[in-house]
Amino acid sequence: MDHFLYRHGELYAEDVAVSEIAAEVGTPFYCYSTATLERHFRLFDEALDGMEHLVCYAMKAASNQAILKTLAALGAGMDVVSGGEYARAIAAGVPGDRIVFSGVGKTADEIRATLKGGIRQFNVESEPEMEVINAVALELGVVAPITVRVNPDVDAKTHAKIATGKSENKFGIPISRAKEVYAHAASLPGLKVIGIDVHIGSQLTQLEPFKMAYEKVAALTEELRAEGHEIKRLDLGGGLGIPYTRSNDAPPLPVEYGQLIKDTLGHLNCEIEIEPGRLIAGNAGIMVSKVIYIKEGEDRSFMIIDGAMNDLIRPAMYEAHHDIIPVAEATPGVEKQQYDIVGPVCESGDTFAKERVMDPVGADDLIAFRSAGAYGAVMASEYNSRPLIPEVLVHGDQFAVIRRRPTLDEMINRDTIPEWL
Ligand SMILES: *Cc1c(COP(=O)(O)O)cnc(C)c1O
Repeated sequence: MDHFLYRHGELYAEDVAVSEIAAEVGTPFYCYSTATLERHFRLFDEALDGMEHLVCYAMKAASNQAILKTLAALGAGMDVVSGGEYARAIAAGVPGDRIVFSGVGKTADEIRATLKGGIRQFNVESEPEMEVINAVALELGVVAPITVRVNPDVDAKTHAKIATGKSENKFGIPISRAKEVYAHAASLPGLKVIGIDVHIGSQLTQLEPFKMAYEKVAALTEELRAEGHEIKRLDLGGGLGIPYTRSNDAPPLPVEYGQLIKDTLGHLNCEIEIEPGRLIAGNAGIMVSKVIYIKEGEDRSFMIIDGAMNDLIRPAMYEAHHDIIPVAEATPGVEKQQYDIVGPVCESGDTFAKERVMDPVGADDLIAFRSAGAYGAVMASEYNSRPLIPEVLVHGDQFAVIRRRPTLDEMINRDTIPEWL
């Protein structure tokens, strides 16, 4: 459920007409709904009721300061994957003891900065990384709390580019080597082992892969405890999928996911952490664009819009589907049309949809890409010297630009000319 609905023949974001935002901000832009962000966070929080837990929003999905502050105000922790994300989380007022640091390539500088600023735990992905965290912790005279990310070798049954829990993926250490790696960790004086971490992929639409992974984590917890390790926290990653179309089978709900966690891991009396990103932000955001031309090709109509792959790369990168709707609601009974929907960038990959059947639109009409809140704005670039796409946050009947569009001068002036030119 989200808060982008037609009212009086127009698309609204909560109580604001999307056309009103477009008139003020220009197109293209991202628009997020506060109520939807909050609702999705609460669904996870409530799904884990009865277990000690922390929902750490995976902020790589959408990391604007205003979004982070909205979630932090509800008590969210953050899952960060870089020193930059850590700095953003701190800047948004998230305390260090609610920030977990994931990722396969943490550098010594990033580890130092987070240990100084305060960190809930490192999710360690390799033995070389373990050595570096140990060395930096000793240098600073602190002890770094860690979990080890285990790779359970399960098939997440998702797009290959976002599956992370198979042995061929770069993530984590093989679960078969876990005992050895935990023994090594326990021997390093700068580290304190506190738990286990697992994250098997993104946009999972079934519970079965989670179940297989969490059962392996449960067994590992018992084995590691038997070896004398204190396993008190289980970080279960993110990955629960969202419905990108209205027609397909809906993915499991957070409450069903929460029940699975209770069933597979509840008996261990561990504190539970989860790291949802997409399910919190995905359906809480739309990308709004304007039709520039309808161009009749030989056998198809091209809808050429002012948004492009640099603004929303998911279709080009993951063959992702986004529902695309006109901002002005079509008259009931009007005949649908078929379009290839493309941006102006000079690449054939700059195609959002082929042979998409939808309500008819014409030049200058606004359209909205639904479910664009996660992995949308954060992956935007200025390719083709297109200004970085702005972001807007709606809250009831108010809206605010939370990242403005840069001017062309600002973009040009970021370049510097060497003295020999
Ligand atoms: C990307 C990622 C997440 C979030 O995944 P979603 O599919 O957006 O929920 C959580 N944890 C880790 C370690 C990740 O890399």
